[in-house]
Amino acid sequence: MFKKVLIANRGEIALRIQRACRELGIKSVVVYSEADREAKYVRLADEAVCIGPAPSAQSYLSMPAIIATAEVTDAEAIHPGYGFLSENADFAERVERSGFTFIGPTADSIRLMGDKVSAKQAMIRAGVPCVPGSEGALPEDPKEIIRIARSVGYPVIIKAAGGGGGRGMRVVHTEAALVHAVQTTRAEAGAAFGNPEVYMEKFLENPRHVEIQVLADTHKNAVWLGERDCSMQRRHQKIIEEAPAPGIPRRLIEKVGDRCAAACKKMGYRGAGTFEFLYENGEFYFIEMNTRVQVEHPVTELVTGIDIVQQQIKIAAGEKLPFTQRQIEMRGHAIECRINAEDPVKFVPSPGRITMWHAPGGPGVRVDSHAYTNYFVPPNYDSMIGKIIVHGDTREQALARMRIALSETVVEGIQTNIPLHRELMADAKFIEGGTSIHYLEGWMAAHK
Ligand code: ADP
Repeated sequence: MFKKVLIANRGEIALRIQRACRELGIKSVVVYSEADREAKYVRLADEAVCIGPAPSAQSYLSMPAIIATAEVTDAEAIHPGYGFLSENADFAERVERSGFTFIGPTADSIRLMGDKVSAKQAMIRAGVPCVPGSEGALPEDPKEIIRIARSVGYPVIIKAAGGGGGRGMRVVHTEAALVHAVQTTRAEAGAAFGNPEVYMEKFLENPRHVEIQVLADTHKNAVWLGERDCSMQRRHQKIIEEAPAPGIPRRLIEKVGDRCAAACKKMGYRGAGTFEFLYENGEFYFIEMNTRVQVEHPVTELVTGIDIVQQQIKIAAGEKLPFTQRQIEMRGHAIECRINAEDPVKFVPSPGRITMWHAPGGPGVRVDSHAYTNYFVPPNYDSMIGKIIVHGDTREQALARMRIALSETVVEGIQTNIPLHRELMADAKFIEGGTSIHYLEGWMAAHK
């Protein structure tokens, strides 16, 4: 096992990784920007190194600064968390070439999945069901594009091969709008992701977002740890996640889960990963694979009892998975609410000093947050300041525990989306379970 791990991230996930290292008896080094000097995990760190000013480009995205810090602190491995450099294949490669272990998949796997066109092709080869659409990237010829759209059937969605974070997508309802939409998406994708390639998919009108968590070791073992329903989204950003997904027959999930684990073996995948699907009318359609730990990983941890971050570290150290598929059991129900520093109505970020922070507690309640009373939320990064995760024997119990947890939570000095979560936990349709990815935006329009 490693003696020392460098944490190349910030916020709640930096604290989460720090805790995992501590439990495993591994020393950790945190890197931080000037804006994150006050962060809890920096104060609690075995070692902390400032790697640059607030802008991410000069700190959390600076490969030389991070690798140099690993060198001077004698760290053996680097955990990239999520966001920032976590899905950057060049970073993974540079880390390993500099003699450190990258806690994640190989650069080749990251590259394959980072290009959504090549990812889909790999999934089709591995027998994972995909959204019907263009086979590969769209050609230049407008006539060909029109022909493909006719065979897929309207509405279609044009997506950037290099897209991410819900950007670089355009829905097209009519042939008249098609060619222009492809050209615009191409131009935007080129500017935003440095890759103008786009592809086409059937636009599913009312799907749910259901994803499968996998773990694979370097000894040809791969398992899936159940599913998560992340349909509660605004502008393609998830805000509530739960496990298991309400109302989906287990045999359907088992079938798709087994396919995901088999695909990992086939691809030689290692580490933690997530296969994201849209689910509609009893069918799963792969949309993308994330080759990192996800924000919503705790709901899976609570229902399976498996520490995903510790497993990532153990896999990177060459250990075998300590369980087989048959030993993995899902118990009870877990729900996560992402707490964002933002206006709950207008959704504009609300950075600043937290004058009062009181976290909830009690049976089945977990809070993953780096915030505390007097913590300053910097304006430079993502607005998520923590997550409240609850576990119960049933979904009803989990919902009740989340309502209590939200009622106990106090955050003053900045605005948060806690009022929105409180309303959603009392919403009849959410309580019923199984709402689609469009539900939240419709709900918000009706509650203006
Ligand atoms: P990103 O990497 O930007 O998150 P995804 O491919 O995961 O892109 O898609 C993000 C979201 O966009 C999905 O969760 C879903 O809400 C919507 N979406 C993507 N593809 C489709 C599709 N074929 N039909 C309907 N909605 C889609």
